[in-house]
Amino acid sequence: MNDKELRVIQSHFRTFYQRAMPSVVALPQREFGFGWHKKIDYRHKAFSTHRDFERFVLQDVPLFMSSSTAYYRFPDKQPMTQKEFSGADLVFDLDAPRSKENHSHRDLLCEGCLLDVHEQALRILAFLKDDFGLQGVLVFSGQKGFHIHVRGEAVWDLSKEARRQMAEYVAAEGLDAEAFFTKAAAYSDSSERNVGTLRGPSGSSGGWAGKIYAVMRNAIASNNTASLKVFGVSKKHRDDVAARPAEMLAQLEVGNWSAFCSKPNVEALVSAVKVAQTDKAVTFDLHRLLRIPESLHGGTGFLAKTLPEADSFAFEDVLAFDRSKTLTVIPRDDLRFEFLGEKFDLLRARFAEVPLPLGLFLLCQEKAFAP
Ligand SMILES: [Zn+2]
Repeated sequence: MNDKELRVIQSHFRTFYQRAMPSVVALPQREFGFGWHKKIDYRHKAFSTHRDFERFVLQDVPLFMSSSTAYYRFPDKQPMTQKEFSGADLVFDLDAPRSKENHSHRDLLCEGCLLDVHEQALRILAFLKDDFGLQGVLVFSGQKGFHIHVRGEAVWDLSKEARRQMAEYVAAEGLDAEAFFTKAAAYSDSSERNVGTLRGPSGSSGGWAGKIYAVMRNAIASNNTASLKVFGVSKKHRDDVAARPAEMLAQLEVGNWSAFCSKPNVEALVSAVKVAQTDKAVTFDLHRLLRIPESLHGGTGFLAKTLPEADSFAFEDVLAFDRSKTLTVIPRDDLRFEFLGEKFDLLRARFAEVPLPLGLFLLCQEKAFAP
């Protein structure tokens, strides 16, 4: 990035930080990393007070700010062993959508991709809560994904291996879900024909079996034909579900899958639950630096905001700058795209007055020059 664009971005970032400085949990024990030209230009920095951190941010205005998920006695010492590790938050990093085909994909700023990743992040939060009794905090990464932070003593001491196992657990690695289903022989009194009874996850199942039960339960309760079909429920059985949903739910509750499904598509059921796209290395790397929640992302100008556990996500939720204000930029190329529901058609080398968050986005993306 050129100095001129950097200065414009920094001036807006500084204004933002003057009114909304991120506060870092356990700040004196964290290692910090900062970037101006890339995400981390240097690391191993530490601050003894929040005031020192604020002074640094307002003076040097980094475009990217990260802090360690770990807590150290001497966070600025090098090499890493000198820092004296005392524990770490548990984190998950998600940034790749499962597919670009399941929505109308846009190259520049794709809300569809982000919604897909968001849905995966919600799955992790559910795993943490249901299977581990942990409360995760969902944070937008600032560009293409989400981070989940779990703080507190419950996770502080988790070994690298334990973290790896958790990441593999949510990704269904090594899971044999077929084993949740058993087919018991049963003989009908009248014909002595072996009809078989398929037993599967029930209302009292826990862990992964409980998740598969819940997915099927939702599909039956909402009479979701598409899901039922994918999960292996035949046309005849789907008709039964539509006609007598309460009865089917009661059968599922006791684990009698034969009532509504003769051959479940176990792989599809697992896919509806598992988290397909975490960067596992981030979870078990105890010395990773991660974007500071409530800091700005220098590649987009968006806020790495802590989000409520809601079903939806929109870029409007993470805007740091007032969209009723404008910024003049000079596009480096012809640009035609949609930003926050508004269509733009900008010409190369022509001055363009655009909403401030978009202008900063284009500067951060190096798609435009500052005049
Ligand atoms: Zn997309």
